[in-house]
Amino acid sequence: MVVVMSPDATDEDVANVVSRVEGVGGAAFVSKGVVRTIIGLVGDIDSFHHLNLRTLRGVADVHRISDPYKLVSRQHHPDRSTVWVGREGARVPIGPDTFTLLAGPCAVETAEQTLAAAQMAKSAGATILRGGAFKPRTSPYAFQGLGVRGLEILGQVRAATGLPVVTEVVDARDVPVVAEHADMLQIGTRNMANFGLLQAVGDAGKPVLLKRGMTATIEEWLMAAEYVAQRGNLEIVLCERGIRTFEPATRNTLDISAVPVVQAASHLPVIVDPSHAAGRKDLVVPLSRAAIAVGADGIIVDVHPDPETALCDGPQALLGSDLRELAQAVRRLPPVLGRVDAGQLARR
Ligand code: PEP
Ligand code: MN
Repeated sequence: MVVVMSPDATDEDVANVVSRVEGVGGAAFVSKGVVRTIIGLVGDIDSFHHLNLRTLRGVADVHRISDPYKLVSRQHHPDRSTVWVGREGARVPIGPDTFTLLAGPCAVETAEQTLAAAQMAKSAGATILRGGAFKPRTSPYAFQGLGVRGLEILGQVRAATGLPVVTEVVDARDVPVVAEHADMLQIGTRNMANFGLLQAVGDAGKPVLLKRGMTATIEEWLMAAEYVAQRGNLEIVLCERGIRTFEPATRNTLDISAVPVVQAASHLPVIVDPSHAAGRKDLVVPLSRAAIAVGADGIIVDVHPDPETALCDGPQALLGSDLRELAQAVRRLPPVLGRVDAGQLARR
């Protein structure tokens, strides 16, 4: 941490900062310039925070040097992590050595629709099934998902296809039931900063898929991951799903640069959701290719056997030739970047 003194700070002001820092067990290194003095602090950052240094007379600014997140930071964990999803004997990796396709319907609507979507996903190369049972809808009048019945359907489809299941949890009270049925718990963009929910999924003992808040900075997103990690759960996969910008041509703007930025800052795997980023199926394959090329550890994509009748996000769901094109990209591009298909490394 570095304290920058204002040009009119007195020797007494500087001495006051030094003595407070030393008072909490830290060390302060004073560097006097022609106009300003700066003070470098070494020691426990949390104890410096409690000093409220910005409020002291003569202090102009205080800068952090180290990351505000710890457990998810790459500073203390240089090797990138792999998260394994699924039950004993059929676990699928998401991490730096592999490329993982997660696919399925936006929402679980019926057993038949979910099974058909899962089969489409599997034939495109997906090794993890997505599908929402509890849907966070913008309108309270829109389809809210089948709830526990949807979780049961996902369980049946997992049994039929062998695909582990990721599904969203929107309320801390539902965490136990969702954790009982799902292999991975998804936190959606709207709940990224719901800290009670993050702590609850941190306690659930299942891997977590943490989507980026649509207006969250990368640092805020990583701090959200820190909430989960702090409960003892480091099985977290981050998902870039587009952010709100001034551009209305797409539903959100896919922040493709977030992938390498996050991979440099954090050891956690990072995947991309081109479907929710674009909101349009014609952009899903190009954005998937971009995600693979930029080094994402996987992508999560909406598919639906009949998008025209979909109860949620039909316009972005893939089928037919679009899905075949996606399958081709997922099969061909990751090996060029030295990645193995996650299905090949799955623990059976
Ligand atoms: C979803 O994946 O179903 C979803 C609602 O995504 P997001 O939270 O990114 O909008
Ligand atoms: Mn959706």
